[in-house]
Amino acid sequence: MFDNIRMVLVNTTHPGNIGAAARALKNMGLSRLVLVDPLEYPSERAVWRAANALDVLDKIQVVGTLEEAVADCPLVIGTSARGRRIPWPLLTPRECGDRVWAESAKHEVAIVFGREDRGLTNEELQKCHFHVHIPANPEYSALNVAAALQVIAYEIRMSALAAESGAPVHFDDWDMPPAQFQDVEMYFTHLEETLTKLGFLTADNPRQTMTRLRRLYNRVRLDQMELGILRGVLTSVQNHIFHSHNKIAALEARIRELEGGDPGQGNT
Ligand code: SAH
Repeated sequence: MFDNIRMVLVNTTHPGNIGAAARALKNMGLSRLVLVDPLEYPSERAVWRAANALDVLDKIQVVGTLEEAVADCPLVIGTSARGRRIPWPLLTPRECGDRVWAESAKHEVAIVFGREDRGLTNEELQKCHFHVHIPANPEYSALNVAAALQVIAYEIRMSALAAESGAPVHFDDWDMPPAQFQDVEMYFTHLEETLTKLGFLTADNPRQTMTRLRRLYNRVRLDQMELGILRGVLTSVQNHIFHSHNKIAALEARIRELEGGDPGQGNT
């Protein structure tokens, strides 16, 4: 599922960070780590920090240059502890997750992380298609490199999960089943009828309003309980209209009766 996504660590100084990065990746279901000329690797400290992510460490690739690390990638994203370090197309971590997830369905994608002490050079950043900045505390915005990788990996996972469910509302952990199509259709008929009786829907453009109302409700994805409440509201409105009409009809009848019941009045 994440096979086309690689994280590239440039000139990492502390091997512990390599182990922590491996663990962060595995926690999020990713597994490909590429090291560009690390100071110390292999290393016992990396193994120790990787905990149960030794399989990620086993698969690590070590290369000499950033160019080698990303050679076959049509999409390369560079990370920066400072926002807008150089004017460049900038992604939020969320946008980065969406883009990486979408493009990795088609081709290889790399996300590049810098040195602990000074990040990526401008030259390295300019080799990337996009930059991504985690909007941390402006007064202390540099995360530990493995922590930054964790955030980016998490966003990729979130994008993947959202794409899997295909809808903004998830019913798997919802307390009510979703409303069925036919019930929602009945609701729309009921709604149109009520709004027409109220004089809210006019003959000149009723369809446009109903289309917009449909779109509104469909965005929400009603559950059965919510739909029941909405239908109840419409029934109350209709009852109210019905009783008002009855009262008016009764009054009109009474008036006619009074007018008719005094025959002499009109002739005198
Ligand atoms: N003093 C360096 C800090 C580097 S932090 C500098 O100012 O650039 C090491 C690496 O962690 C960075 O190169 C980047 O890959 C990642 N990182 C740290 N904080 C980040 C943030 N807020 N957003 C994106 N990446 C970050």
